[in-house]
Amino acid sequence: MTGPLLSLPLIPLPLRLPPIEGEGFPSYLDRIVAQLPLPVALTVLLYRLGLQESERGAEARAHTGVSLSAQQLRNAAFTLRLPEERLRAMLLTHFDGVAVDFRGLDPDDPDSARRVGLREWAYLVGSHYCPACLAEDQAWRLAWRLPFSFACVRHGALLRDTCPRCGRRAGNLREEYGGGPAYATQKRQPGFCMNPPATGEAGVGRGARFCGQDLTAVPGLSLRRAPRLLKTQARLDAALEARHDPVSGLPALAFFQALRSLCALLLYVAEPGDLGPLPPKVLDAFGRHVEERQHRLAQRQSERRPQGGRSGPLMRFYGATPTSAALMAALLPWAAEALTPAQPGTLNVPELAERLRPLVERLRARGQGHLRMVAKDFNFQGPLLDAFHAVLSGRAGFDHRLGLLSPYAPARRAYDFTVDDVPALLWEDEFRAHFAPLFEDSDLGERTSRAVCSLALVRLSALLPWEAACAALELPATYACGACNKAMGVLSSAQTEEAFARALHGLAARLEAQPARANYRARREALRDLRAVAVTARELSLAGSFVNPGKAAARHQHSAAFVWEQITGGDWRGAPAMREREKRTASAGELYGRFLDEKLPALRPFLLEQAAALAAGVDPGHPRLTRGLES
Ligand SMILES: [Zn+2]
Ligand SMILES: [Zn+2]
Repeated sequence: MTGPLLSLPLIPLPLRLPPIEGEGFPSYLDRIVAQLPLPVALTVLLYRLGLQESERGAEARAHTGVSLSAQQLRNAAFTLRLPEERLRAMLLTHFDGVAVDFRGLDPDDPDSARRVGLREWAYLVGSHYCPACLAEDQAWRLAWRLPFSFACVRHGALLRDTCPRCGRRAGNLREEYGGGPAYATQKRQPGFCMNPPATGEAGVGRGARFCGQDLTAVPGLSLRRAPRLLKTQARLDAALEARHDPVSGLPALAFFQALRSLCALLLYVAEPGDLGPLPPKVLDAFGRHVEERQHRLAQRQSERRPQGGRSGPLMRFYGATPTSAALMAALLPWAAEALTPAQPGTLNVPELAERLRPLVERLRARGQGHLRMVAKDFNFQGPLLDAFHAVLSGRAGFDHRLGLLSPYAPARRAYDFTVDDVPALLWEDEFRAHFAPLFEDSDLGERTSRAVCSLALVRLSALLPWEAACAALELPATYACGACNKAMGVLSSAQTEEAFARALHGLAARLEAQPARANYRARREALRDLRAVAVTARELSLAGSFVNPGKAAARHQHSAAFVWEQITGGDWRGAPAMREREKRTASAGELYGRFLDEKLPALRPFLLEQAAALAAGVDPGHPRLTRGLES
């Protein structure tokens, strides 16, 4: 519709028709043409507005009401005697950056429009409608071209999506004309269906008449007894208007993006019972979708079998845009509620994760191979992506049984401390007082148990899988599938899970309440090069009793490991002095153990003094050595 513009001088129309609040551009033009004193074709008006180059119908082929160039906007505003602002608000691009992201849309390229429409779930061709609204003023609302409009709050009714007579998608726009107006050369009849007639009902060609159903007479479905649905629609309408959703705290674009992702997930895995209370007709619509989905899945299974177990064609997740208002009415309340935090204003990842959990379990049961890839297919972003990953990594069930999502979590939020505040091995005093008895009968060593406790504590500061907690504390990743799972098994079989959870959350609360905390990560960083602490024979002999001095190098090295342990709260195996040995032989532990038994009693005061001096230098805000939280 661009290109060199006509030589025709633009003349303002004799009639100035005020647009209806929220009306779309094609509807407005239809109403103008219908009210002109002489019968005029829509194509003539489009030509007079400077929107196409002749009065011929063949020209009216591009998406109507999606966007206009700056020149077209100026022309139309001048002719229609309306501010450009007003016109711009009647185009689908009004929702760009609000409910849809139209990047990549070229109005002159129908292919780009199809792509963007599919990606963003915008109805570039077709529209929902409210018969009661049309009966009042014949104005098609712009927002009816979004799947996020499924109800009319004003009339308390479900929107309609098709014409009952021709059975086609409503909206009077024709896909085969690239979204242009249907029957553009014929006289407009606002409020009536201008789709082609039902297949087989009338001939094609020049003489063909449009469907002609009176859409204002189509019976509506009242939602007066479904306040949940009307409440959802009101929230979506408000977010469209304010460009922000105060409930989730998300900007509108992110909010609608998240709704789209959730709806796509529901379409793929949800069962009718998942969606909450719905009116029967709405539930029916979803039931039909589920039937069709089962059919397609079964088909896929059968296509898969002959290939001898190799995976068959993948199911499309984020496929065609749903065009059924009833189907969207089934999905959107659940989706909007999932994005409703207990404390309005900020989405809470643990909470969101809890809501996603049953659906992710279904995905898993579906035998979907690469669940992490699924996040991409559904286009999960931001908090939704975090929540999805949180559910996936909660495989061991720690979060739900003992952690942030468990009944023992006083508030359903992460505690206010970070992984930096936690030593790799739990504080000795804390461990002995609250945790050691729980692991007493197990064959987990004390160091391992302390590491597991630290990892568990870290998991209360953020929803992290064991692996990530290990990485954060610089513990070997093998702890995640080894020690941690084993320890959880010990707790479970000894029926001490509850005691463990209470001790853990109690410790987390105390840590959170501490004003000054040691920064263990900073300490580890600062001591990266601590490979030796010089201990002379004199220091050894000061202890009085005879101690075999042994080899000086080993003595310095073991002393450094001990000092490192005191400052970082870590395990000697991670100490730089011990990492130094390229091949850490099995005897390394034995030798260190012997050092602790034989030499440490004599050296302890000296080494602790050294450690305290070093700690003061690397963590000046908190120079103490910490055996316990309060020490
Ligand atoms: Zn209405
Ligand atoms: Zn029709």
